[in-house]
Amino acid sequence: MITALGGGVGAAKFLEGLSSVIESEPLNVIVNTGDDICLNGLYISPDVDTIIYRLSGVIDKKKGWGLEGDTFNSLKALERFGLHTWFNIGDKDIATHIYRTHLRAKGFSATEITSKIAEAFELPSNLKIIPMTDRDVETWIQTSEGEMHFQEYLVKRRMKPEVCRVTIRNIDHASPSPGVIDSIEKARAIIVCPSNPIISIGPILQVKGVREALKATQAEIIAISPLVGGVPLKGPADRLMKGLGLEVSSAQVARLYSDFIDTMVIDVEDAHENQAIKDMGLKTLVVDTVMSDKKKSAILASSILELI
Ligand code: GDP
Repeated sequence: MITALGGGVGAAKFLEGLSSVIESEPLNVIVNTGDDICLNGLYISPDVDTIIYRLSGVIDKKKGWGLEGDTFNSLKALERFGLHTWFNIGDKDIATHIYRTHLRAKGFSATEITSKIAEAFELPSNLKIIPMTDRDVETWIQTSEGEMHFQEYLVKRRMKPEVCRVTIRNIDHASPSPGVIDSIEKARAIIVCPSNPIISIGPILQVKGVREALKATQAEIIAISPLVGGVPLKGPADRLMKGLGLEVSSAQVARLYSDFIDTMVIDVEDAHENQAIKDMGLKTLVVDTVMSDKKKSAILASSILELI
């Protein structure tokens, strides 16, 4: 069994390649739920849905999120009622959120709901998507313009306010969901996907017992940097790292994980950081990490599997 830790877009791209090269070996993916938000009464779990959509082949590849060929008429129609329309929910995508909200009202946990959604999208049976916790947690960003939910910072404010602090609300009370610790203890290898280290992997590491389990496991742990040429390919990783007073580099990402990983994978464009990472006592792999298509993602996954 292989276990992966991931957020949304970057993780999903890597997992698409990984799942194509592992054939039928079980792959358990522990997914960040700090990005979750309740809008207009609908519960949305963007990272979980992005991974399910990508692995079941229905994702809008161009955007990296949402469903292929989706339209946005219902969102437009919500304007009439003065409801939130800044978060892009497509006409087909909304069905997932209605289903999640319906199941929550019936008392199902995030783990159960995720597995029902994965089943509905006919995810291959060796792939298991596990939300990091069944507890509702939310990532909030303290900015120069006040505190706001991460989605508001990312989507509504387009990452414009300056970041001062990141808080994962409720994380102190968050226990790992069933299967999380087991997936870490029993895996032959654990891969930290090329995801945002602050708001995607960070929250997973803050769930009670997860970091300790990662330190204790016998599994080989390999992390892939989400930075290429010192910058994220998409999203606010650089703004968040800078805002928290961290250097924006793959070496810094390695530093954030150095107490539990064995190997750090960095892009050829960041080869000059190789020695600094080795000096932390970590092994390194310097390869092309840009996953512009499924084939490139599979090549990256294969080179990582060779390390195990
Ligand atoms: P989010 O929750 O949807 O933002 O998704 P993630 O945290 O999983 O992914 C965001 C990160 O993925 C960003 O920091 C990107 O730089 C990174 N990313 C996206 N595509 C690639 C890629 O092809 N290669 C690498 N190395 N990183 C990528």
